[in-house]
Amino acid sequence: CREFNVVVLGAGGVGKSCLTAQFVHNEWIESYDPTIEDSYRTQRAVDGRQVMLEILDTAGTEQFGGCHSAFKFPFASLTPSKVAMRDLYMKTGQGFLLVFSIASRTSFEELETLRDDIIRIKDDEDIPIVIVGNKADLEDQRAVDRAKAFSLSQRWSAPYYEASARTRTNVDEAFIDLCRQMLRR
Ligand code: GDP
Ligand code: MG
Repeated sequence: CREFNVVVLGAGGVGKSCLTAQFVHNEWIESYDPTIEDSYRTQRAVDGRQVMLEILDTAGTEQFGGCHSAFKFPFASLTPSKVAMRDLYMKTGQGFLLVFSIASRTSFEELETLRDDIIRIKDDEDIPIVIVGNKADLEDQRAVDRAKAFSLSQRWSAPYYEASARTRTNVDEAFIDLCRQMLRR
């Protein structure tokens, strides 16, 4: 049984905790404490092989990335320990789920910075990444074109899934795709 560290990253409120809860526990949690950062262990069969995943559901990336956040958060929140923590989990992560909300353009734009940081910290261009456009059930509030997300996906050679934690659409598919990428390494 191989073990992998998976890190779920993305702007606050995009549904990282809901996606993780659906994947790990098969449950829909309407409201999740946005400050909770926790990890969950779960074992899965992927193409007949057992994998043990340690999934870190991160919180508060908005305190680190992008200029949008710099305006929203005081610099005091950017403490050395938080930066060090983020560096540490990026270093130990072997696969990354980069999540945005299809209803939020800024959450999509934040992915670029996150990937840059991952590549810099891991010093590896070919790190397993899956892009997730969550809240696909909110089609009427769509702010990110499917085509735009697909072009990012092609540029990064990383698969793109439109998912919904609410309707449990493409949740397993996204995580299992990431497992396949990690197994290939
Ligand atoms: P996080 O900050 O990225 O961990 O976001 P959460 O998982 O806490 O979700 C933030 C909010 O978005 C909550 O109110 C959820 O109910 C809602 N949410 C999460 N996923 C979905 C989804 O797929 N569809 C819809 N409509 N709402 C969602
Ligand atoms: Mg959360």
